[in-house]
Amino acid sequence: MVTAIAGKGTPEADWQSWPGLHRFPALDLAPCVRVVLLAPHPDDEILGVGGLLRQLSARGAAVEVVAVTDGEASHPSSRSVTPHRLAELRRDESLAALGVLGIEQTAVHRLGISDGGVAAAEPALTAAVTDLLAGASAGTWCLSTWDGDGHPDHEAVGRVAGRVCQRFGVRLLTFPIWTWHWARPEDPRVPWSTARAIALDADTHAAKLAAVDCFATQIRPLSPAPEDAPVLAATMLDRLCRRTEVVFT
Ligand SMILES: [Zn+2]
Repeated sequence: MVTAIAGKGTPEADWQSWPGLHRFPALDLAPCVRVVLLAPHPDDEILGVGGLLRQLSARGAAVEVVAVTDGEASHPSSRSVTPHRLAELRRDESLAALGVLGIEQTAVHRLGISDGGVAAAEPALTAAVTDLLAGASAGTWCLSTWDGDGHPDHEAVGRVAGRVCQRFGVRLLTFPIWTWHWARPEDPRVPWSTARAIALDADTHAAKLAAVDCFATQIRPLSPAPEDAPVLAATMLDRLCRRTEVVFT
């Protein structure tokens, strides 16, 4: 399912006033000793599960991030930044954000798949994820964007994660990003019954906000020109910077 992403999306106030959002069972972090996080674009890893990543790292889990693309297509009509330069900036933003979260020891695997072209590169992505997860121990978790998230790259990464994790018996947790934009409370297209919540303590939440602030190319205009407007509007950030993160199990 790829859903058109337009407008401002479902307001955060609508989500907050939905009792279901506050009733997801808590995710038990104890079994995790290693986490392999698949990020379609630099910022998905922080927006989706930055707080969870910090909490797992603080508990001693080894963290590996797979940067599937470098996000060079976020401003395709920009005349102030080239795609090549944007990729460099976004790589740096992601590393800075991981540092702000306090997990700078993270191993980052950069695949360099083209932004917007992940579905066409599923074989290469499958091979890379297989290398990381083949023979994984029981405490290994894979975190990925949900394969119904409504963005083609997010869905392709979710599909690959699902196949590889099933093959090797690795626990997969998927996270929504654009779902919060196009879905509605109780939306039947979303697997709410499998949702688990991660409550972020005050320090973790503050660290996540500081990490999100590292993504200058995405949250601030590149220039006053309309084509350089922020990709992540305030309404989007409201939905992704809650005190609770949600994953599907
Ligand atoms: Zn993304």
